[in-house]
Amino acid sequence: MTADLATLTGMDTPTGLLIGGRWGDGRGGTLPVTDPATEDVIAHVASATPEDALDAVTAAHDALPGWAARPPRERGECLRRAFELMVDRTEALARLMVVENGKALKDARGEITYAAEFFRWYSEEAVRNDGGLSLAPSGANRIMVLRQPVGVSVLVTPWNFPAAMATRKIGPALAAGCTVVLKPAKETPLSALAIAAILHEAGVPEGVVNVLPTTKPGPLVAAMLADPRVRKLSFTGSTEVGRALLRTAADTVTNCSMELGGNAPFLVFEDADIEAAVEGAFLAKMRNGGEACTAANRFYVHDAVAGEFTARLADRLSRLSVGPGLDDGTDLGPLVNSDTRSKVASLVESATRDGGRLVTGGQVPDRRGYFYPPTVLDDVPRGAGILAEEIFGPVAPVVRFTDQADAIALANSTEYGLVSYLYTRDLRRALQVAEALEAGMIGINRGVVSDPAAPFGGVKQSGLGREGGHDGLLEFTETKYIAVDW
Ligand code: NAD
Repeated sequence: MTADLATLTGMDTPTGLLIGGRWGDGRGGTLPVTDPATEDVIAHVASATPEDALDAVTAAHDALPGWAARPPRERGECLRRAFELMVDRTEALARLMVVENGKALKDARGEITYAAEFFRWYSEEAVRNDGGLSLAPSGANRIMVLRQPVGVSVLVTPWNFPAAMATRKIGPALAAGCTVVLKPAKETPLSALAIAAILHEAGVPEGVVNVLPTTKPGPLVAAMLADPRVRKLSFTGSTEVGRALLRTAADTVTNCSMELGGNAPFLVFEDADIEAAVEGAFLAKMRNGGEACTAANRFYVHDAVAGEFTARLADRLSRLSVGPGLDDGTDLGPLVNSDTRSKVASLVESATRDGGRLVTGGQVPDRRGYFYPPTVLDDVPRGAGILAEEIFGPVAPVVRFTDQADAIALANSTEYGLVSYLYTRDLRRALQVAEALEAGMIGINRGVVSDPAAPFGGVKQSGLGREGGHDGLLEFTETKYIAVDW
């Protein structure tokens, strides 16, 4: 436990590895955790090696039969208690997240609520893991279908939603009867460790949830995927790392769920309610300071309304208060680290070189911390480099269009397909465009789609499988078919 952290958050946070119910030092030294608002190291967390990872797999494998055999109601009740503990500790968990990730406290509070909801939803799904029974078409036998836990599951999560990406995997895994080894991002291990402590307090047995922060994720995850006791990889992160992990998982034919990058288009048609579109754009762009896979990345706006839309969005964004996430009144905290800020700044520079026009923002401020101001670019040309990359920052590039089919083609001209947003008052048009957009999720006149009760996920190179809803539970089950003659 670290005293400074306790002062900052009002809560004791573990800083060790969690293997088989014990907090330990691990064999890989320590990992520094930096506050993006001050650039100060605020904690040192134990760093796991591949040997530690195999110990964690052993712990998860040993705990599997007991956990899988627990009545579903009991598994659900552990998750329900964890939900309640998270809600009770929202403020402390939110402050912990702010100091390791940088996001504004209001975003962090929102994330803790969202993250806890996955425990509540899967406490309810634990008792709804149904199968099927039917008569074979020939009439000769019954077809019985069971959904059994897939087994020991390796969960790998990113830094942008340090709590929700963990609970979105742990919730369904535990509900289905699986045991897990969670590897959080090195930037944000503390939220994951705090959530694991809560799960134990909620009654989850030793070895069911193991957590391994590490400075060397590649060898650690590879060692686990090579182990035949591991039957599932659930990964959230970049498409680049996801592709590499799919290749590694192929050697052992490990079941994979992949939540990867996005490049969300946000379409505003000439008949849209502009005030609602600006509000939706604000949410779709600025939730989490733009560091979201669902962040609107490219704004395609009809020429007839583009001037008004862009001016209003720029006005809304330029009034945001930028500062340390813990300060009252901060709307936008710093980006997570210096590399992320450099990437955002260079994408904006390239967009202006490509012919985009800066309406607001665009300058790295001269202050400590990885801050970047809200930025709007208008008249960005269709071929500009910024439109092909995940920006992951508070930057909104606007491209103008005049033809609906052209707008749909532009929206689909990416290897990503996570989410798309569209604004129009015409329901028929909305549904036609929604059908034509190549994305796993569509927001119609709505800037936020995430919901623990809904199937979240992408098509194309944005991923495989779904998290949330009933589909999220099925990702942690194997289907067994039994032919019965009675
Ligand atoms: P990242 O791919 O760099 O890292 C994600 C996780 O993978 C981290 O835990 C990291 O330590 C680990 N990792 C990195 N290299 C690895 C390797 N060689 N082997 C095994 N593990 C490795 O992504 P990030 O920068 O942490 O997160 C941002 C990305 O995540 C963005 O692309 C974003 O779109 C995506 N994301 C997607 C979703 C979704 O649901 N689709 C949600 C949140 C974030």
